[in-house]
Amino acid sequence: MKKIAILGSTGSIGTQTLEVVRENKDIEVAGIAAGSNIRLMEQQIREFHPRIAAVWTEEKARELRELVHDTDVKVTSGMDGLLELASMEESEILVTAIVGMIGIRPTIAAIEAGKDIALANKETLVTAGHIIMPLAEKMGVKILPVDSEHSAIFQSLGKSPTKEVHKILLTASGGPFRGKKKEELCDIRVEDALKHPNWVMGRKITIDSSTMVNKGLEVMEARWLFKVKIDDVQVVVQPQSVIHSMVEFVDGAVIAQLGTPDMKLPIQYALYYPMRRYLPGERVDFWKIGRLDFEEPDMETFYGLKLAYEAGRKGGTLPTVFNAANEMAVGLFLDRKISYPEITETIEDCMRVHRTIPDPTVEQILDTEAATYERIQSRR
Ligand code: NDP
Repeated sequence: MKKIAILGSTGSIGTQTLEVVRENKDIEVAGIAAGSNIRLMEQQIREFHPRIAAVWTEEKARELRELVHDTDVKVTSGMDGLLELASMEESEILVTAIVGMIGIRPTIAAIEAGKDIALANKETLVTAGHIIMPLAEKMGVKILPVDSEHSAIFQSLGKSPTKEVHKILLTASGGPFRGKKKEELCDIRVEDALKHPNWVMGRKITIDSSTMVNKGLEVMEARWLFKVKIDDVQVVVQPQSVIHSMVEFVDGAVIAQLGTPDMKLPIQYALYYPMRRYLPGERVDFWKIGRLDFEEPDMETFYGLKLAYEAGRKGGTLPTVFNAANEMAVGLFLDRKISYPEITETIEDCMRVHRTIPDPTVEQILDTEAATYERIQSRR
């Protein structure tokens, strides 16, 4: 019986992880953590019987304790709760399905406790990859990608050493506004940006996909996961989202992983790696698809992607600024307080004024996040 803990059990990745658990019947859920959706947490506790359930605020934790007082679960709160869950003895794998940089400290705690990481929370690697990857290596733990593109790269790489890799070809759907020009993005509403053509995901990542900032975050994530230079990660728009990503090797061979857009595949692959298991669901039907298209990304219109390359090249605290500015700007856009183009403008503004700290500590990363939020707030 495999034992896992899930950070972000009520979200899109978290609930799909629990679907994989439900379908396979041989994974024990030792712990769950979420922000505020305690009604869903109650259901999860009753179905999966975790030993620990961590809720972000103490107030919500109190409410959850009331709801599940007839069970044996220990309800914890705050960062201490997340850290306890991340390093709990009973789990072997931590699924990091939480959104944002709040995932950094629990991920480090889990690695220090020798847990493998099924990593969905890309913000952790984007901002603290220089800390996470060497630590994982030192502790001998695996970082198993859950992001579908990174899982595809991981699967395409197989056992090939990095020196045989020439290029990572990271595919992108291009999002709902593919083909539009900059001036056409001014009047985009929240509802328009929340309509992803191929994938159903959480709200923040759906907006990030529409601006291509998500692809930028993925480029930085790939660079750490696969130990390549940022400019060796090339984005290829593949509008049908059938090719989930590819690797070009030094001899010119390109190996790709294809599939239908279903996050349960990469989640299940990470949980059972290196084994493959039966997964019910739709299969790729090449007769129906007929053709696959490829395009170069439009980095002038979707210049968030260009800014991501810039942040990744410079490194240090600049990727944190990129990520934090985007996180806050997307929140403001979702609350209808700023316009769609202002998301990328905010990132650019924060990056321009930032003085990069090379090789930052976790504290410096978190201070940079706070300073970025303050700048955005002070300019409103
Ligand atoms: P969601 O917004 O759907 O879920 C986020 C989860 O994090 C929820 O369970 C939420 O709890 C929890 N959470 C938020 N804040 C806190 C907190 N302070 N303490 C504890 N838990 C908290 O996000 P997604 O599932 O879409 O994304 C999660 C991560 O996975 C992101 O990093 C994303 O980039 C990445 N990812 C997602 C993909 C997808 O298909 N969705 C694909 C690839 C990567 P609650 O809702 O109860 O407040």
